[in-house]
Amino acid sequence: MKRLRTPRALDRALAPSRRRGLKIGFVPTMGALHEGHLALVRRARRDCDVVVASIFVNPLQFGPGEDYRAYPRTRRNDRRLLEDARVDVLYEPEVSRMYPAGFQTSIRVERLSKPLCGASRPIHFAGVATVVMKLLQQVRPGVLYLGRKDFQQCRVIERMIEDLSVPVRVVTVETVREPDGLAMSSRNAYLDRAQRASAAGLRAALEEVRRRVERGGERDARLLRRRLRSRLQALPRARVDYAHVVDARTLEDVVQLIPGKTALAAVAVCFGRARLIDNITLRVR
Ligand code: AMP
Repeated sequence: MKRLRTPRALDRALAPSRRRGLKIGFVPTMGALHEGHLALVRRARRDCDVVVASIFVNPLQFGPGEDYRAYPRTRRNDRRLLEDARVDVLYEPEVSRMYPAGFQTSIRVERLSKPLCGASRPIHFAGVATVVMKLLQQVRPGVLYLGRKDFQQCRVIERMIEDLSVPVRVVTVETVREPDGLAMSSRNAYLDRAQRASAAGLRAALEEVRRRVERGGERDARLLRRRLRSRLQALPRARVDYAHVVDARTLEDVVQLIPGKTALAAVAVCFGRARLIDNITLRVR
């Protein structure tokens, strides 16, 4: 595995593959890697000739008072995991080179960035869109791999790629979970034992909503949302940021679930300083 820090080095390393028309897959991450990240890498390894992963803790996507400084950094272990997963190139740019003095451009995906996580993290998705655009310019992959745990992030990036005619295909990968259902996340490292036990309730609450829809035939989205919120509020040590039932394409609130249209139940819950998100898709027959 080559470890590279600059766009020039990246360009030089990838030039022969580009000339030969090989398929380049790209997995952007912020490090502190776990099986969720590795599922993306494995999918890329299966589909592509060349796999590029990046580790970059992007300051632009953290708001004031968020955990930019405290975000877990486990570089040595990350490199080993990526090497074992047969990544060809690990790109680790430096903040000062990604955003040198004078940097002032931002990409805003207007409507998709506002609801859900956007409501409590107003600059987050502009930071994500900007860094992903920049990484796509530098890596120029054929395929971009994203995890569906960050469903809103997938929608924002897909929209940006379409709106700006970026020549890359997006593949989204199912959420990888702990045995008790908790979605794997680098931020799970913040949880103490009691918080960790309680956090498994996120998935259970989302699954209950799905059962009500798919087995019980419930279509009243406001009722589902109320039920979801109260289940989450009952979890010990939890502070609910949001619980919503939205259209899976527009991320706008829905009132009724409609057969043939996919809805999404999405939640964000804080346990101490860990803010965890999860979601589940809903389809009425
Ligand atoms: P992050 O390092 O948190 O920015 O995540 C990098 C990529 O890994 C994003 O596309 C995430 O959606 C994806 N990812 C994070 N956690 C998981 C998970 N549990 N399952 C699948 N993909 C994930």
